[in-house]
Amino acid sequence: MAQQEDVFKKIVAHAKEYGFVFQSSEIYDGLAAVYDYGQNGVELKNNIKRYWWDAMTLLHENIVGIDSAIFMHPTIWKASGHVDAFNDPLIDNRDSKKRYRADVLIEDQIAKYEDKINKEVAKAAKRFGESFDEAMFRQTNPRVLEHQAKRDALHQRYSDAMNANDLAELKQIIVDEGIVCPISGTKNWTDVRQFNLMFKTEMGSTADGSMTVYLRPETAQGIFVNYLNVQKTGRMRLPFGIAQIGKAFRNEIVARQFIFRMREFEQMEMQFFVRPGEELKWFKQWKEWRLKWHKALGLGDQKYRYHDHEKLAHYANAATDIEFLMPFGFKEVEGIHSRTNFDLSQHEKFSGKNIKYFDPELNESYVPYVIETSIGVDRMFLSVLCSSYEEQALENGEKRVVLHLPEALAPVKCAVMPLVRKDGLPDKAREIVNELKFDFATHYDEKDSIGKRYRRQDAIGTPFCITVDHQTLDDNTVTLRERDSMEQTRVNVADLHKLIHDRVSLTSLLRKLG
Ligand code: ATP
Repeated sequence: MAQQEDVFKKIVAHAKEYGFVFQSSEIYDGLAAVYDYGQNGVELKNNIKRYWWDAMTLLHENIVGIDSAIFMHPTIWKASGHVDAFNDPLIDNRDSKKRYRADVLIEDQIAKYEDKINKEVAKAAKRFGESFDEAMFRQTNPRVLEHQAKRDALHQRYSDAMNANDLAELKQIIVDEGIVCPISGTKNWTDVRQFNLMFKTEMGSTADGSMTVYLRPETAQGIFVNYLNVQKTGRMRLPFGIAQIGKAFRNEIVARQFIFRMREFEQMEMQFFVRPGEELKWFKQWKEWRLKWHKALGLGDQKYRYHDHEKLAHYANAATDIEFLMPFGFKEVEGIHSRTNFDLSQHEKFSGKNIKYFDPELNESYVPYVIETSIGVDRMFLSVLCSSYEEQALENGEKRVVLHLPEALAPVKCAVMPLVRKDGLPDKAREIVNELKFDFATHYDEKDSIGKRYRRQDAIGTPFCITVDHQTLDDNTVTLRERDSMEQTRVNVADLHKLIHDRVSLTSLLRKLG
């Protein structure tokens, strides 16, 4: 694990060094859990968004997009339940003055029991070798059973406290389990308090009478309050979906792990409106479609898993997360929820407007049910970055850092380099850039040795380097070098466009989705 943490630190440093992600307001010592995307980061991020957007709106004729405002009428957040219930339980350690989420402290404790069990199993597996029966060991080993019993009891107590919103009990669990602050190492805890995660601001001048508004904590509500506008103006029939990409804001208590948990982040959400009674069929379908979208990127199928929720929010009748193996463990990247007709019914109640859908086939009106797919752009970015990063030892004893980014997502698709800065090679290279730049993000680079230039492109994940040499002037061929294999082939300049296009276009990725 310590090794993985080191790798993660290197990835964060790499992201900064190569213009992917900067700490916000860095020259003022930064703003916690807020980040800026640099020249390469913004391209990677845009490509991720384009991949999602096209997969939703091009591949599904019944899904359209919208772009709703960040500010919305404050009653929307009353109706959605965010004003009253979008809270996290927080607790402070008096010695370190550090603030924690009480639920996270307890979940970490549950994970510790899990770790202990896994260690026992690993130890026994080593001792018994091939004859080891893991299932039997888990069922009978006294130490494993003891840890399991403790874990299950804690889990039960914790769920009961969360369900009952019992803050005193959460504190008591922390005390009883002897959980210490990782910084001060002490158990000097304050009481647990609820903390609302929405940012508030004022709209309008005070002379006019101002109104408290919120920065949206999710993009979904902008879709709900527009669903009938879209349905009517687009003459949509159920089932249909509305997709949206946009910023969301949450005043997270503990912001950790770089861009995994930010206070300002971006979501890609799609709400799929269906007939009541058909929601679980569609939930299953979207679960499959979304995992397929992730796997098509080729980051490694074994890095994904579903985490089905046992405890459901009061409005949901099914929910799962798609988790990705980050350097700090399997973590949620996307949520898929069957949200029933809760949100739309609430908006009907709070607005006093009829927002039922008239179903021409059934000849009746009803409030549709909704399946939601909700993915964080930044977490997706992080999963792509982490799984692409590699420090490679080369045969000649040198080292290179390479980002094996999915080619369609790479910020720069090809770099054109004259071997030397004379003899007309730069002009020829510029000529090639001027051909390719209309379709691909193309770099021109003539500084430093060719080896150094290759390394720079490897470090930002550029799939192709094109080198112009003296032979180019004679026969119009160049060297095409591939990022992952470092293989070099001689190709005709006239073939470059097609060769690159076949590999880096989003189309090839989208075709995998059918
Ligand atoms: P978590 O449990 O990690 O706080 P969540 O379950 O509250 O996440 P949702 O409300 O389901 O998250 O939001 C949908 C998606 O938005 C998440 O899967 C995640 O990718 C992204 N997301 C949520 N909160 C953040 C955040 N603070 N920073 C970055 N991305 C976020």
